[in-house]
Amino acid sequence: MSPSVDDTGQQFINGRRRQGSSSDPLTVTNPSNGDVVATGTLASTDDVNEAVAAAKAAFPGWAGATPAERSTAMHRFAAELEAVSGELATAESRQAGKPIRLTEGFDVPGTIDNVSFFAGAARNLDGKANAEYSGEHTSSIRRESIGVIGSIAPWNYPLQMAAWKVLPAIAAGNTIVLKPAELTPTTSVAFAEAAQRAGIPDGVINVLTGRGSIVGEALVTHRDVSMVSFTGSTGAGSRVGSLAAGLVKRVHLELGGKAPFVVFDDADLEAAARGAVAGSLINAGQDCTAATRAYVQRPLYDAFVSRVADLMSQVVIGRIDDPATDLGSLISTRHRDHVAGMVDRARAAGAKVVTGGRRGTGDLESGAYYEPTLVIDAAQDSEIVQEEIFGPVLVALPFDDDTHGLDLANDTPYGLAASAWTSDVFRAQRASAGIAAGCVWINDHIPIISEMPHGGYKASGFGKDMSTYSLEEYTQVKHVMSALSPQPRKDWHDVIFTSAPEEHDGGGSRIMTA
Ligand code: NAD
Repeated sequence: MSPSVDDTGQQFINGRRRQGSSSDPLTVTNPSNGDVVATGTLASTDDVNEAVAAAKAAFPGWAGATPAERSTAMHRFAAELEAVSGELATAESRQAGKPIRLTEGFDVPGTIDNVSFFAGAARNLDGKANAEYSGEHTSSIRRESIGVIGSIAPWNYPLQMAAWKVLPAIAAGNTIVLKPAELTPTTSVAFAEAAQRAGIPDGVINVLTGRGSIVGEALVTHRDVSMVSFTGSTGAGSRVGSLAAGLVKRVHLELGGKAPFVVFDDADLEAAARGAVAGSLINAGQDCTAATRAYVQRPLYDAFVSRVADLMSQVVIGRIDDPATDLGSLISTRHRDHVAGMVDRARAAGAKVVTGGRRGTGDLESGAYYEPTLVIDAAQDSEIVQEEIFGPVLVALPFDDDTHGLDLANDTPYGLAASAWTSDVFRAQRASAGIAAGCVWINDHIPIISEMPHGGYKASGFGKDMSTYSLEEYTQVKHVMSALSPQPRKDWHDVIFTSAPEEHDGGGSRIMTA
């Protein structure tokens, strides 16, 4: 075992890092070469009870802190993360098989920016203006924290997913128990430890590394968990949603995607081709918003296919610790084989693989590598066009007119993200309105920013991450209605007391009963 293997435990409960109390072993592996990164034991349902109890105990103090106090602690949290940004980038790269350039340039700075954003947002709780809407009362809005949030995250951007789940929840005064994916827990625990060093009280952020079917479900159904926030596949999200619905529990689901990339005939071909390659290969295509279906208007189609294939062949696939590497490995050999299986089935059904379509060779054979792949001539209703691949694979298909292009873009169950490529502002507006997705980029694909919401339409789920929209989701709104006069007899009592009012001060009541 290499000396750098972390065996200090991948649970963080009530401010203490430790092993899980189950006898189920945990081994975190670098999927690019098979090296062991961390060992330990998985969490049990006893650990769920302990973590939820810690979060429940921490809730009154954290919810009762002023927004400024929470904000100050979160600004210190950003500084603590900044201080260990190099270690975080290395750990994220090793556990997920990502190129170091990606974690240093995207995962870690994006996370720190998110912390800074929510530190500011914590002081900006919105609501309607107080006013005398009935004429007889003053109405005001309280935006209150919800309680203990149970959050479940996937493996594709472990650190950023921890941030997206934890930050709006704690900025709004909630406490949280986060369950990262078993494959990639190390940076979620490091994230919680940085929060502790920043002075965020013990119990506010807890991390449990355990199986979805055991620890995940125990968290979702725990009676002291008031809200569930899930990011992952549509299948697991549907299960989590149904468990939460059975308990009438608030739920937020960020699920799978199958983003269309629509290139109109007036688009800048070079920009679109570069955008398609970067947008489909980022994070080895394991990105819920990755470009997966390029629909290209016929006059540009052949040139687009040839330029994308050309650019894909220039992408450097290699060791993840080499800054020159563009494309790292997939999360596991099992997942790599799933991706390869989808491409092989498409090929067998008559699709053509223009470039790629192979596992990594030579030095890369021991890792979960898959070459950048472009597929054409697949049927619109085929598996490779309809279902999430979550690998470095782009399918290109031609379309005739604008309506046809937008119809094809909308023709999957998903609706997370999309892009439209055109130099015509009117076409761009029609595409942004016409594509059913939570985000539509115009002449770009992938960038995200802390200030703007991320979340799906259709089977991609509901609820928003990032932005003040997500802050709102982790609060509940209370209407407080205060009578303006001490009079025992109100105007609206006419509906219940048939006798004439003894003292009626006139004036039309605007009160409606529910
Ligand atoms: P997954 O659904 O297999 O697992 C996600 C998490 O859910 C893991 O922590 C897992 O342990 C847990 N889980 C699984 N079954 C569960 C159950 N029955 N109850 C409770 N928890 C359970 O997804 P994955 O393979 O880890 O991640 C890839 C998926 O995540 C893709 O579908 C991708 O599109 C999606 N994703 C979506 C977004 C978004 O913002 N919409 C972002 C990132 C990833």
